[in-house]
Amino acid sequence: MRGERPQVTTNSPDAPAGGRTSVEAALKPASGAQRAARETVFELRNVSVFYGRQKAVNDVSMDIYRNTITALIGPSGCGKSTLLRSLNRMNDLIPGARVEGKVLYQGADVYSPQVNPVQVRKKIGMVFQRPNPFPKSIYDNVAFGPRTVGMKGDMDEIVERALRGAALWDDVKDRLKDNAYGMSGGQQQRLCIARAIATEPDVILMDEPCSALDPVSTGRIEDLMLQLKQRFTIVVVTHNMQQAARVSDMTAFLMVQVGADEHSRWGELVEYDETNKIFTNPSDERTDNYISGRIG
Ligand code: ADP
Repeated sequence: MRGERPQVTTNSPDAPAGGRTSVEAALKPASGAQRAARETVFELRNVSVFYGRQKAVNDVSMDIYRNTITALIGPSGCGKSTLLRSLNRMNDLIPGARVEGKVLYQGADVYSPQVNPVQVRKKIGMVFQRPNPFPKSIYDNVAFGPRTVGMKGDMDEIVERALRGAALWDDVKDRLKDNAYGMSGGQQQRLCIARAIATEPDVILMDEPCSALDPVSTGRIEDLMLQLKQRFTIVVVTHNMQQAARVSDMTAFLMVQVGADEHSRWGELVEYDETNKIFTNPSDERTDNYISGRIG
């Protein structure tokens, strides 16, 4: 018998007008034609990630699709952030971190010695858990990336486009020279999103982008994510299952596995499917137990 699932609501643009509805009613599975039309952006093949001798993620294989939001969910320590960081070589910045297997981005091996990690991170931007603006003006925060990579074009226009893209322009257009530290937490996080999209990446990785925000700011970021997926591919780590159900198209559920010696633990992908399927009719009993709150 299935356990009680949390009452999950959605703010999907496909949801009927007049308010939020239950996830079962609102999240329509993609049709066969939509599935066939999806373009693969990342192919992960047998990806394992180690910190020193400790394996943190074991043998993950999955594809990530263009203009979708893919959520990575699972209990704390199951390797969600580690897996996310493997997509744009952010783990390279952690001493002792090592990736095995293949991460292909548009068919090219992200970890090939010929590939410059800085170029990878330009294409695959990142937004972190805590808003981390620079101690600079709002304008200079957004202009920082484009200036660093020598982007061509009128900087005022680039900054305005990024701020509009992050639904922040109307809030800040009259105070672009003010220090970013004067903004609210939610505005700072949208500024970090503006900063991430200013260099026109292809993919945005988000590591628990709302965990430091209040519910209203969280709702604004979720609405923004739904807009941004029209232009970008988004992969988001979230510990909030309702959030995964509200915003994502695809959901990957990871769990901690304990080794035979009971000392070693690593994260494994249990199930990856359309979000609707994961939340209404998962194939694996462990997924069902997790989303119905029977295991944390
Ligand atoms: P999650 O995002 O699911 O909470 P993480 O990816 O943060 O999980 O962590 C997965 C495992 O890797 C955990 O056991 C964690 O302690 C370990 N880990 C994460 N970051 C580091 C690091 N920088 N150095 C060593 N171990 C790490």
